[in-house]
Amino acid sequence: LHFVLVPPMAQGHLIPMVDMAKMLAARGALVTLATTPCNATRISSTVDRVNDSGLSITLLRIPFPCRFDTVPCPGMIARFYRAFGMLQQPLEAYLERHELRHFRPVHVLDGSDCEKLGIPRLVFHGMCCFSAGLPQHPAPRRALGPRVGPRGVPSPVYACPAEAEDSADGVVVNSFIELEHGCAEAYDRAVSLRNEAKLDKFERGNNSSIDEGTILQWLESMKPCSVLYTFLGSQSRLILAQLYELGRALEASGHPFIWVIRKSKDYNFLEFQRLLIKDDLEERVRELALLIKGWAPQILILSQPSIKAFLTHCGWNSALEALSFGVPLATWPLFAKQLLNEALTVDVLGVGVRVGVRTPVRWGDEERAGVAVRRDMIEKAVVERTVTGGGGREKWGKWR
Ligand code: UDP
Repeated sequence: LHFVLVPPMAQGHLIPMVDMAKMLAARGALVTLATTPCNATRISSTVDRVNDSGLSITLLRIPFPCRFDTVPCPGMIARFYRAFGMLQQPLEAYLERHELRHFRPVHVLDGSDCEKLGIPRLVFHGMCCFSAGLPQHPAPRRALGPRVGPRGVPSPVYACPAEAEDSADGVVVNSFIELEHGCAEAYDRAVSLRNEAKLDKFERGNNSSIDEGTILQWLESMKPCSVLYTFLGSQSRLILAQLYELGRALEASGHPFIWVIRKSKDYNFLEFQRLLIKDDLEERVRELALLIKGWAPQILILSQPSIKAFLTHCGWNSALEALSFGVPLATWPLFAKQLLNEALTVDVLGVGVRVGVRTPVRWGDEERAGVAVRRDMIEKAVVERTVTGGGGREKWGKWR
């Protein structure tokens, strides 16, 4: 791992980013701190100490004549920022020269134009969540004055324009939950799933097995809050009989559903496919259901108003994605942390209903588990309580 940190000119960025550089180095990552000679003089002794201790931070000095706090008058600040933009080219030249693309994954904190180099980029504002501007909270906007948008912070006060943040892979906030009670969560919801462009949602993670037009058309043809989305994890290897039991339960529900069937060489997908054909299940549910064999555009699906509930294995990403869109869960954890995620979502947050898994299915030991989740269990949780029982999105959507 090689992290390139590019602190903008203000101390408020430089100091925490040096701290971050130290933390990353302490974890064994290679770290480059790209800064200007003026700033480098301020931090070089700290960096030397880190290097003396056997860790590695490289200080990259990109020529630049001054520092933010040495700009002679406010009228020069706009020029300062224009000049700051000129650091992009030498920084890119450095990244190219060191062939950082070969050190994948590489993280650039607050870097400039990394897209064309194919390097993941995280933004660091140096602000707390509260002041980053919560859309539903007027106070930060009032405090910052009329030129500040919900999250957007105009240059020259901040170096990172809203578009750069929108296209970033993530945002780093130096804060802690207890301090910003409520704000951290709200900010997280506002930014963590910022894949607003349909294409971003569609292409997230992998190439989808269904084309965008087909899935959207299908979802749009369904009534609002009517579809059960089912996906049991990209690693689950449920035996055919268990999968089939699930299929029959979904069919028996009589409700529209999407069922993502993992397509992988490590379990016998083809055999299951044959079973589906032999039994005619796929044909019988054609009016009602969409079977996606392979990779589904999950986040695009979950974001649609026709989705009512999610039958999930409780992988954290899936749970988080669903809850971020106000979609409640029917939980069917398989192994590892999935059972804890079930406890969190059902018992603590109250946004899920258990299917009733009693013991985890050890990975690789699926045969022994047999058909642990029976049709009636699925029907009860999914159909009675989540889809028809008023426990679906109407109830939990408010939680969003
Ligand atoms: N995912 C997806 N389409 C699929 C399968 C998975 O987009 O067909 C994504 C899903 O949105 C989530 C991730 O892959 O972001 C799965 O992670 P999770 O932690 O939910 O479960 P895992 O598959 O790692 O057990």
